[in-house]
Amino acid sequence: MNGDRKIALALSGGKDSTTAAYLLKKILGVRKDIEFSAITVDEGITGYRPRSIVLARNFCRKMRTDHHLVSFKDLIGWTMDEIAKMDKETIPCTYCGVFRRRCLNLKAKEIGADMLATGLNLDDTVQSILMNISRADLDKLARLGPHSKIQEGLVPRIQPLRTIPEKEVYLYALFNNLKIHDAICPYSERAMRGRYRSIVDVLEKYSPGTRHAILKTYDSIRPALEEIFPQANLHSCKCGEPTLGEKCQGCTLIERLESKA
Ligand code: SF4
Ligand code: ZN
Repeated sequence: MNGDRKIALALSGGKDSTTAAYLLKKILGVRKDIEFSAITVDEGITGYRPRSIVLARNFCRKMRTDHHLVSFKDLIGWTMDEIAKMDKETIPCTYCGVFRRRCLNLKAKEIGADMLATGLNLDDTVQSILMNISRADLDKLARLGPHSKIQEGLVPRIQPLRTIPEKEVYLYALFNNLKIHDAICPYSERAMRGRYRSIVDVLEKYSPGTRHAILKTYDSIRPALEEIFPQANLHSCKCGEPTLGEKCQGCTLIERLESKA
């Protein structure tokens, strides 16, 4: 082993992932021991994803970065549009989040990436913290990224924009003339995250600094949470992806869809 590292950039073409990829390339691109590749997931959302794929591809060309495209259709068997029609009771994002993670992890492993960089910003992070607290899902709360422990079969995630407010990311992208996809997913209306976005916005509006305070609190109690809810060792699902239980979430959702097909 030569000690070189490969960072896979999860690149949707939106402001967050494009800014994260741009900054990582700008700061670490001078290092000869670090290699970059970008991965874009095509969920198959008509009128939304195609344009961002073009922007992601152009960005990679400009930044001289390998670009890999992976689609739900190829890896899961259905596009997100088909899934939304097949299961009208479940919020589309439930499928989308799990399948996107699966696509990114599989592709990152395939290309030999040591870590996967996402564009998660401060607002996203705080929303996730509050969502998990509200659902009493402390187990999940203890394991929100970034990952410090390397788990077999799971490419660890890094989140370079974790402390940066969403609006600042947007401004940075604008000032640096980054071509970003600025559309809203047609399924986002049903997403629970939208409610938490509004709550965090109101808290921040009346008490500026709340987002940073929530993140600071979370980071302070995280070691205690990790002690109470230690990370169980992952094992391999029949599909090869890492899982805590016998079956991974991706396979569980694929089986649910097969029962509706
Ligand atoms: Fe997927 Fe939901 Fe995001 Fe749309 S809003 S891209 S369905 S996670
Ligand atoms: Zn599986």
